[in-house]
Amino acid sequence: MCGIVGYIGEKQASPVLLDGLSKLEYRGYDSAGIAVYDGSKINIEKSKGRLKVLSDLIDGGKKLKGTCGIGHTRWATHGEPSDVNSHPHTNKVGNIAIVHNGIIENYMKLKTYLISKGYEFVSETDTEVIAHLADYYYKGDIIDTVIKIINKVEGSYALGIISSEHPDEIIAVRKDSPLIVGLGDGENYIASDIPAILKYTKNVYLIDDNEIAVLKKSGVTLYNTDKEVIEKEVFEVNWDIQSAEKGGYEHFMFKEIMEEPIGIANTVNPIIKQGLIKFDKIPKKLHIVACGSAYHVGVVGKYVIEKLAKIPVEVDIASEYRYRDPLLTEDTLVVIISQSGETADTLAALRDSKKRGAKIFGIVNVVGSSIARESDEVLYTLAGPEIAVATTKAYSTQLTAIYLLALSLAKANGNLSAEEEKAYCDELMRLPDYVSDMIKQKEKIQYYASRFYNSKSVFFIGRGLDYAISLEGSLKLKEISYIHSEAYGAGELKHGTISLIEDGTLVVALATQDALYEKTMSNIKEVKARGAVVLAITEDGHYNIEETSDAVLYIPKTNPLFTPSLAVTLLQLFAYYVASLKGCDIDKPRNLAKSVTVE
Ligand code: GLU
Repeated sequence: MCGIVGYIGEKQASPVLLDGLSKLEYRGYDSAGIAVYDGSKINIEKSKGRLKVLSDLIDGGKKLKGTCGIGHTRWATHGEPSDVNSHPHTNKVGNIAIVHNGIIENYMKLKTYLISKGYEFVSETDTEVIAHLADYYYKGDIIDTVIKIINKVEGSYALGIISSEHPDEIIAVRKDSPLIVGLGDGENYIASDIPAILKYTKNVYLIDDNEIAVLKKSGVTLYNTDKEVIEKEVFEVNWDIQSAEKGGYEHFMFKEIMEEPIGIANTVNPIIKQGLIKFDKIPKKLHIVACGSAYHVGVVGKYVIEKLAKIPVEVDIASEYRYRDPLLTEDTLVVIISQSGETADTLAALRDSKKRGAKIFGIVNVVGSSIARESDEVLYTLAGPEIAVATTKAYSTQLTAIYLLALSLAKANGNLSAEEEKAYCDELMRLPDYVSDMIKQKEKIQYYASRFYNSKSVFFIGRGLDYAISLEGSLKLKEISYIHSEAYGAGELKHGTISLIEDGTLVVALATQDALYEKTMSNIKEVKARGAVVLAITEDGHYNIEETSDAVLYIPKTNPLFTPSLAVTLLQLFAYYVASLKGCDIDKPRNLAKSVTVE
């Protein structure tokens, strides 16, 4: 989500830190800061806004003297983007400074404990607990301190720490957030990603979870959590600087699909651990309003919320909703979904609904965005910055947010027993692993793409939730590969559109819903009988589908309400490989923009 860097050596640290951060700005861009030890104390400069604001503030780094420091570019998760919430964070006396990438899930508990011990908090971040914990545990040995901290905190972190008590060291550790150590000659580095240090060295340690790195000018020592020294192979990077901008991937879109499991985990885990969302008042009906892929999340939402919470749901495209005079009462909850939180039509729909007295529940990826600020309640998707124009990981995390909302409403409404809640929550927490398994099928998907990328027109069909997910599969394909495609309820095709099926037309058929499997199978047979070529997606066990289909992808058995989360990753990868084979500009498809702030 954010970028961290650290430098220790002979050079002035701040220009090196600023340069490193500039390569990580894709990871976070709402604020930036650096801390440098000047020979007697730690000096910190930080500021809300792009890195440029910080760079101007310190004259390209010249103003901060010292040869050991850490830096951060933030993508806020806890607390709005502001000067005070920017990293680095320190203990009260300011002799320990910390940068953090990730989320401390139990920070509230730790904060309450530290306050009871007399600590005062200045920011709203989860990160600040680490600075105070470091102060609390420090008894002269910084490694012991770090071990105590990582035994206490839950969640994800990559940490860079400096202390004026240990002026010739940087300490770094990680769990579930990326961290590398760059090995130079008389100088060493930490970074979230290789581009930040590629200019200076190609020799790195790829730090694993719970490994502690102690960097000095002269060398780097790695420890495990028993404080034993561990050996690690030096990894030689063979990227050129250009390709490494995307973390080595050819396209941001692909990289972002790879990041779906961590995004889903970051979105789901804190809510499940802290308890589902509480509703003071149970809404009588829901309107879900969004655009594009977020609208398709809404279509899934209708199925899932009506099924679990038994509350009627209407789903609407924001540009229609805002002009159709919707019937709203105080008992209506309007759910607004947007990655950027700035989508013009969606924002207008929010404002209009508010005026009419409805309560607003926002599902948003960008912290501090207009929709986040103007909603009565916000559930953040923690996908991290999404750069590719065609959404992937933001869509996947929006789906999980909708599941969390559905379960919360079901609970509030008395439709979810404790046992059911546990079963659903356990399954949701397994989703990141399932999605990782979907990604493992990428070679097979690439092969299917090579068979079908010359299609002129493609139909996506499915029933129930499979229809909802067909909408997104079809949009993804047309957005980035420019192949005409349409999504249909599988039973609807014969009411007109089946006339377009001819020899060789590709039909992508989704049949992941057990209860509807036989029905969809009949529809597959109907299109096959008219010459279609069928790529089917179904659950493990439905192997007879191979008799009627030309190609099949399988997803593992999970709760039928959650299959969209698995199927969509396969469809995103399919669209990606088709577009790649056609030589399209995948990250910036023609005519499209990422954050649609116009009507
Ligand atoms: N959770 C931390 C914050 O909100 C770090 C976020 C990040 O990784 O940028 O400040």
